[in-house]
Amino acid sequence: MITFYGVIGDPIEHSLSPAMHNAAFDALGMDCYYGAFHVKGRFLYEAVNGARCLGFGGLNVTVPHKEIIIRFVPADETSHDIGAANTIDFKTNKAYNTDASGAIASLRDNGVSVKGKRVLVLGAGGAARAVTYGLLKNGAAVTIANRTAPKAADLAAYMREYGDVFGTGMDNLKEKVAIADVIINTTTVGLNEGETLVTADMLNEKQVVFDLVYRPVETKLLREAKLAGAKTIDGITMLVRQGALSFEVWTGVKPPLDAMERSARDAV
Ligand code: NAP
Repeated sequence: MITFYGVIGDPIEHSLSPAMHNAAFDALGMDCYYGAFHVKGRFLYEAVNGARCLGFGGLNVTVPHKEIIIRFVPADETSHDIGAANTIDFKTNKAYNTDASGAIASLRDNGVSVKGKRVLVLGAGGAARAVTYGLLKNGAAVTIANRTAPKAADLAAYMREYGDVFGTGMDNLKEKVAIADVIINTTTVGLNEGETLVTADMLNEKQVVFDLVYRPVETKLLREAKLAGAKTIDGITMLVRQGALSFEVWTGVKPPLDAMERSARDAV
């Protein structure tokens, strides 16, 4: 019998997750199907319980439900610490967060270890929470720079028990970029073609620039980083890895990353 999986969010129509997960199920010959479901906040509880009652294997949870979901699905340690989850497994009836390890895996698979490195995280929203947690747990010293400085300070205060982290505004960004080994954009800047917070003149060839924005795949930030000779990592790299980790939570099987990545890049 077919086992169903899916992603719930609002909006959801542009999600790349169905293409990615169905490619992995096909490659492994598994009798499973993954869909995208538009779920408004007021129906979140009913949607999750409905999926459980219908025998779904699991769900991904995306914006804007990642924080609220852990109020009624028990959180594992990582999603509890981060304060948000992106994966529900109905076998264990637990919520997990694979964004943090997906970000770390993206760096690792590109030969980047963050242990002892100075990492500048641009942004202090939901993605920054998971990325900062992953970085701190892996021994990085993190500066969070956000347009709304108090949000960066709040996030840093929340994360301080996990490591060396400081929150600040976007002022003097050139100096903040100059002293970073790794720069990670977790803001939405870059979704609009031609926008970037950091330009080539601020970067050098020893740095790593990782942009979580995946639409467009090659953002202006990544083009600027390449001009400066920096190593670049795009948002699809992380999307695929966080998805692969969810797949593993549900099925216990490591999915073929190459098939997932190809389908995500084709779909975008
Ligand atoms: P969010 O919670 O809404 O946070 C948005 C962040 O962007 C905030 O820090 C906000 O600053 C900042 N921002 C927005 N407009 C800005 C501007 N004009 N100048 C400077 N900063 C600005 O969003 P999110 O859920 O963290 O997602 C952020 C991005 O990451 C999205 O593009 C999302 O698709 C991407 N993402 C990718 C992956 C992946 O797997 N590749 C995973 C998760 C998220 P303020 O606080 O000042 O408003």
